Amino acid sequence: MKRLKTEVLSQRLERFHNEKRLKAYESMRHIYDRLVQHLISEFNKLPSIGTRTAERLAYFVLNRSKQDNLSLCRAITDVNEKVIRCELCNNFTEVSPCDICKDQRRDQTVMCVVEEPHDLVAIEKTGKFNGVYHVLMGVLSPLDGIGPENLQMNGLISRLKENAIKEVILATNTTSEGETTALYLCNFIRKAFPKILISRIAYGLAVGADLEFIDSSTIAKSLEGRHAFQ
Ligand code: ZN
Repeated sequence: MKRLKTEVLSQRLERFHNEKRLKAYESMRHIYDRLVQHLISEFNKLPSIGTRTAERLAYFVLNRSKQDNLSLCRAITDVNEKVIRCELCNNFTEVSPCDICKDQRRDQTVMCVVEEPHDLVAIEKTGKFNGVYHVLMGVLSPLDGIGPENLQMNGLISRLKENAIKEVILATNTTSEGETTALYLCNFIRKAFPKILISRIAYGLAVGADLEFIDSSTIAKSLEGRHAFQ
């Protein structure tokens, strides 16, 4: 019943946004030529791009050199045609398995599980992790009707079955959905693969943070996750 209510609400919200977009599009019909309108509406579909920003971007494109615009089109076409998902970890790659999965210098016994490809990039940028990854391509969100069957679990299970992985680091976000997903994975792995060590990324304070301005739940988590001074 609760899920049905949520579905109805999210459908209504979707309809509201579509109507809003349509109204904005209709109001622009008499102002812009057809092709410019089309470009604006395409930009308007991108995340965090409202109608005004879409209009600004369209003018930016119109004022730009043809060569620069073609280069942008080619970059989009290339990723569309040539970038695929790694058959092992689900990360975006041009060749599957990806460079990380193939790299024998990396520790193939430690796997870090992340929500999205950009989370993998964020961890790689630290230069502090030398294991392999699994990208879930989402998180559990019961209210939105997203269950384990919607996540990329099969690849994870088959890799764990190969017995090479000794530790799984659950690096989903610290949002309620990320926590639910980490808890689900922890219970699942503990039951199906009891020998595998399961760890969770630590909660803590941001570097350079002032305790006075940090919320109490973050401070509480930091105290729980304290470690010996080195
Ligand atoms: Zn890979």
